[in-house]
Amino acid sequence: MATKGLLLVMSGPSGAGKGTLCQALLERRPNLRFSVSATTRPRRAGEVDGVHYFFLTEDEFREGITQGRFLEWARVYGHLYGTPLEGVRQAVDSGVDVLLDLDIQGARQVKDKMPDAISVFISPPSLEALRERIQRRGTETDEESRLRLGAAITVMTAAREFDYIIVNDDLSEAGLTLDAILTAERARTSRHEDFLARFVGVWPGEMKGEKRG
Ligand code: ADP
Ligand code: 5GP
Repeated sequence: MATKGLLLVMSGPSGAGKGTLCQALLERRPNLRFSVSATTRPRRAGEVDGVHYFFLTEDEFREGITQGRFLEWARVYGHLYGTPLEGVRQAVDSGVDVLLDLDIQGARQVKDKMPDAISVFISPPSLEALRERIQRRGTETDEESRLRLGAAITVMTAAREFDYIIVNDDLSEAGLTLDAILTAERARTSRHEDFLARFVGVWPGEMKGEKRG
């Protein structure tokens, strides 16, 4: 049986740099796959269905919820977003690491269902920097930008719930920290049960003192 892949959940205020850091990490880590979410939000210029998101109607999304097709889902900035369960399960089971970019409600749901998941909070260095980044990115209308900036403080109050916090001031430094987190998490003793069991040729449970049965 392959060693299971890691689940890395990134969250933080809109404009903090999650997408940018995810992209950089994916380029450095060939064994890491981005989980493409489903959403009811309208497609932005340049976004490709199945690459950036699976763009669904509200009815299609609701049908997915009813059929249990989402690992987690939430309403964020007025639209529905969810993580397709099957893709994550297949990747993790085959030893591929999975990267999720979720709002804080989604991050909480994943941690509840999969306590082994690693949660990383990406923070901007200041509210002023966040405002500038959202403006400079220019992907939202003024109304949407205000909504996202207005939510930033509420999102920041959830930072303590996460395993790690990265203050994304200098981009390359933040990228190195994220990479280091993944490296350290891979080396965790608790993630080596199967390896150690194979090494000494015993059933994994025996390594933890469990009785066969
Ligand atoms: P998020 O995915 O968290 O909403 P993005 O990755 O889209 O945020 O980043 C928002 C904007 O800020 C983008 O234009 C991005 O290029 C820029 N950005 C990201 N990180 C930094 C940084 N460390 N310094 C300056 N600008 C940054
Ligand atoms: P955007 O519309 O800017 O792409 O994303 C808006 C917010 O939705 C971001 O905070 C992002 O992390 C979050 N998000 C994206 N996909 C998902 C998802 O599958 N589930 C949840 N809960 N949030 C998501």
